[in-house]
Amino acid sequence: MMMDEKDPSTLLELAIQSLLSNESVAIHSLGEIPRELFVPLFSAAFMGGYRKTLTAMVKIWPYTCLHIGTLSVQEPQRELLKAMVESLQVLPAQGSVSRSPKLRILDIRQGIDCKTTCPEFGIRSPTCFHSCTHSLRSILKLESQCSTVDPKPETQSSSQPMELLVDLSLDGTLKEREFFALLLNKVEQSLGSLHLCCRDLQIDRFSYAKNILKFLDLTCIQNLAVDQASLNEVTALMAHMTYLDSLSLSKITCKSLHGRVFRVFLNCLGRMNCLKELNLSSFSLTDHLDSLLRALPPNLDFLYLPFCEISYRDLKFLSQSPQATHLKLLNLSNNAMYWDDYGPFQILLQKLSATLQHLAINHCHLTDAALSAILPGISKCSHLRVISFVSNPITMPMIIRILHYLTPLLELKYVIYPIPVHCYDQWHVNGSLDRQKLADVQAQLKVMLQEAKRSDMNWITYSQ
Ligand SMILES: [Zn+2]
Ligand SMILES: [Zn+2]
Repeated sequence: MMMDEKDPSTLLELAIQSLLSNESVAIHSLGEIPRELFVPLFSAAFMGGYRKTLTAMVKIWPYTCLHIGTLSVQEPQRELLKAMVESLQVLPAQGSVSRSPKLRILDIRQGIDCKTTCPEFGIRSPTCFHSCTHSLRSILKLESQCSTVDPKPETQSSSQPMELLVDLSLDGTLKEREFFALLLNKVEQSLGSLHLCCRDLQIDRFSYAKNILKFLDLTCIQNLAVDQASLNEVTALMAHMTYLDSLSLSKITCKSLHGRVFRVFLNCLGRMNCLKELNLSSFSLTDHLDSLLRALPPNLDFLYLPFCEISYRDLKFLSQSPQATHLKLLNLSNNAMYWDDYGPFQILLQKLSATLQHLAINHCHLTDAALSAILPGISKCSHLRVISFVSNPITMPMIIRILHYLTPLLELKYVIYPIPVHCYDQWHVNGSLDRQKLADVQAQLKVMLQEAKRSDMNWITYSQ
């Protein structure tokens, strides 16, 4: 029996490849192939760039939801996403179709760790783990309204509520504008039945984004990243958001931390009870970290504060904040720490010892003395996976001491260390680096790691 010798997954692949080898045959057979074949066929068609087959599949997709998930989207596949949006059937099908479409949630977000379609539990209402829960235009809200107001929504002619899940990056480029025009066109076509649900919004050019934002329901947004805007503009956006998981602000201008705008910003932050990640970059916070920390939820996981002009007083507040016992990631890079007393930093690290996985303190002007002071604290962080402290003026004996302190941390796999000062004629001046001395340092560390039986730990450095 030849068939029995074949691996069933190989047989399935063969069937799919033979189907796709002739797209018109594939499309024609979509009406008859078993429903279970849709998911593997979709993946193969997407990866292979079979646009016509994909388009036809979306039109008669036999499940409630369709997620791109982790299928990789390279440049050519972007066209596939557009084709999929275009073929989404937002109005009841006219005439006879071989299979009536069931698709109500099309998810073209990329890199989401989920299956192509969510498991069904045999009830009529759509069950998708990723359906919108916040917008008044969501399927969930509209259907719960329907069931209380009008108990018979089964009229064939009216269109059912649907959702299109997207991540948007608004940078004002032609490509982006075309894509958004396509999305809007679809929403208009649906006569109000399609909810455009944006979960991840990145704004690179605020002036351009303004026109687009009025078409989005901002309550749906979970991740917001804004680059180059005024804090006033940011708070105007945040006022409509409640469910942010992560907020990333870079190069945001604010006239004064004593003014109304900063207070409004703190008020907005104070409402974000789900916030897990805050990234403030190039935001001059000197002596105001305390008010920021008071506004943030205590169970924040990730805190990035590079280029924030953090003062000694700020670090002291951080070490006493409720967040100090919870953070998984702390990035304080590019803050000058010319302090006499590293006690608060040491306390902070001790408090973080049970949770901290990633510590970044690059470009902080940390000397041997500063490192000596905080090293005992670092060595208590038993879950540390990555530590990065490049571009600090550290000597070779100190690096060796650090290595001895860090080798017992078994979860620590990446140490990004500074080139020790003796490798430069003039510290940190481009062109004055002695490559031979650096090579000797690397060789010496390698031997020491082998001796400590920690060759699994990667010690990496780089010159500018
Ligand atoms: Zn789903
Ligand atoms: Zn939504």
